[in-house]
Amino acid sequence: MSENAKLSAINPEYPESGGFIKESSTDRLSEGGTALKLAPSPALRDYPSKLYVETTTRCNLGCFMCVKQTDGCGMTEGEMTPERFAALEPVFPHLESLVLNGIGEPLLNLELEGFIRRARRSMPAAGWIGFQSNGLLLTDSRAYSLVEAGLDKICISIDAASPETFRKVREGGSLRRSTVPSRPLPPPGSAATGRKFSWG
Ligand code: SF4
Repeated sequence: MSENAKLSAINPEYPESGGFIKESSTDRLSEGGTALKLAPSPALRDYPSKLYVETTTRCNLGCFMCVKQTDGCGMTEGEMTPERFAALEPVFPHLESLVLNGIGEPLLNLELEGFIRRARRSMPAAGWIGFQSNGLLLTDSRAYSLVEAGLDKICISIDAASPETFRKVREGGSLRRSTVPSRPLPPPGSAATGRKFSWG
């Protein structure tokens, strides 16, 4: 018997075909055939569980493959403000992840630590906050202040393994400077926040 057919047997509201699960149905079968209650799938929740916030559309590089360099892109340059970020407050308690980047370079926004601190105050402890960066502006002191604000992950995007290719791809950058901070960040669990930080 298919899993859908088993679910139909224990819950007449569950449709046997079509892959559609009604809002009232959060039942799944365990190995022994017992019905379990699970959280509704993300599409059926009242709030988003993942949130992507574009903290700036500005960038310190001019990579040839970037959408910002395409003819007629027409992207307006601007930054997320604390006031606009505050309007997202009702969503934070429901988030599993908060990603603070879009097209631009998030480290250009000097309010980043404030955004992280604000979201961290009301996000669930298991929810993570992170962003992707080209890494060129990531000094030791900035890395520490981000972690102390409550950041969980940074993903450094490098895009080339040799200095020559890097210069061609990432106009305005140098591979030597696109490295992780020279001093190690506080080890897992010992940062001011007690959270486990990871690089990507
Ligand atoms: S670093 Fe990213 S946002 Fe900046 S120009 Fe390159 S691809 Fe675009």
